[in-house]
Amino acid sequence: MHAPGSEDNPLQVAVVGSGPSGFYAAEALLKCGRTVDVDLIERLPAPFGLVRYGVAPDHPKLKEAILTYEMIARLPRFALLGNVTVGRDVSVDELRAHYHAVVFTCGAEADRRLGVPGEDLPGSHTATEFVAWYNGHPEYRDRHFDLSAEVVAVVGQGNVAADVCRILAKSADELRGTDIAEHALDALAASRVREIHVIGRRGPAQAKFTNKELKELGELANCAAQVDPGALELNAESRAELEAKANFVSAKNVEILRDFASRARGGKPRRLVFHFLKSPAKLTGAGRLQELVMVRNRLEGAPFEQVARETGQTESVACGLLFRSIGYSGVPVAGVPFDAKRGVIPTRDGRIVDAAGAPIPRLYAAGWIKRGPTGIIGTNRADSVASIKSLLADLPALPQDSRMGSKGVAPLLEARGVRPVSYSDWSAIDAEEVARGRPKGKPREKFTRVEQMLACFERVDQPAL
Ligand code: NAP
Repeated sequence: MHAPGSEDNPLQVAVVGSGPSGFYAAEALLKCGRTVDVDLIERLPAPFGLVRYGVAPDHPKLKEAILTYEMIARLPRFALLGNVTVGRDVSVDELRAHYHAVVFTCGAEADRRLGVPGEDLPGSHTATEFVAWYNGHPEYRDRHFDLSAEVVAVVGQGNVAADVCRILAKSADELRGTDIAEHALDALAASRVREIHVIGRRGPAQAKFTNKELKELGELANCAAQVDPGALELNAESRAELEAKANFVSAKNVEILRDFASRARGGKPRRLVFHFLKSPAKLTGAGRLQELVMVRNRLEGAPFEQVARETGQTESVACGLLFRSIGYSGVPVAGVPFDAKRGVIPTRDGRIVDAAGAPIPRLYAAGWIKRGPTGIIGTNRADSVASIKSLLADLPALPQDSRMGSKGVAPLLEARGVRPVSYSDWSAIDAEEVARGRPKGKPREKFTRVEQMLACFERVDQPAL
């Protein structure tokens, strides 16, 4: 028998997580010039991860990444195993037994915590919950957000915060033609929100928005962006940051914010107020959120190393709803090392390492679970390619015997009553969603229950794995 990667001994690889980094890892393997079987294992019956459940519904262009993933899914030797949870339906050890290598591309689905009193009061939520809810994620379908609150605070100034602000600021009519989940559109149509406060712990020069996303917040039909001109007076270190050539995004952000500061409010029914140099100190309320108390900060440190230091001065916003949008964090997978401080699987060159920093044979990671939640969708392509390069370099050290891949996993799943969803099953779900959206003028009406998705295709036949 030949070495893995040959016609008579195909390299069997399980990729865990079907978001962008999972598809890019699959592509790198399937186009590497060897014979490779890739099984993309996904917890939900629907693939595409954050592109389907994270990208805002009013940003359809970003979802065009799916067209690339559809092409990857059509490559020979690609298979989807949807509706399968690694660590529950199949263990990492079982995957190692049936595959030559396992690549974790499971993203960062939890949130960082603020660590302030009152963080868990009713009315205080993570942005992740809200984003997953309006995008129709089945696990968030039944969340409730009190949109009868007139004042909302959004903590954090990155692009997720921008998405949350936009969805809160837009009217239902502006969202109606998108793929927003029906339950969310109904709730947002009854929203009484009129004031959104978006809060940054550092200054305008350190906000993490990208230019397009920030600019868009000033172009909303029903919401006026407001910035106190005084908040745009920068310290010397921040001015030095903006002068650095490579920091053009921040320089442009400050320019955009200056434009917002120069505008009159106009007659718009909603307003979006930017706060800088303020950190949440506590959330208070009798049984539910009523007030956000913030402490004012000053910046300390050299250019590009400035951190927020509390001044002791406080101010508050009376608000009934708050979203913490301060970055994602990965969640551990049973049987795989985890760096809880960074919220990632520890790796070196894409190879998963143990506590002593030694590579664990045949385990790899790519994407946000490897490097943390940064970058745009396309950033994950290079990242996945780099991890797969390490995997292919390790080929001589991998077990040289043949592995069964999905044929080995299928009986385990069957015995456990798990019905894997193949790519053609997903295509049936996809077609039904598109058909459901058509009469409403929407690109699709997503199914928000796993059972609804599974009912879209024949249950009697097990899929050909
Ligand atoms: P992010 O860009 O890292 O922004 C996180 C924000 O939270 C920052 O303003 C950060 O401030 C703040 N923060 C962190 N800890 C805090 C604390 N303890 N108290 C107060 N504020 C705190 O993260 P994200 O918005 O979650 O986005 C994740 C990634 O997805 C980014 O790369 C983003 O560009 C991308 N994304 C892109 C799009 C798009 O292209 N349209 C849409 C959504 C997301 P500091 O700077 O002070 O840490």
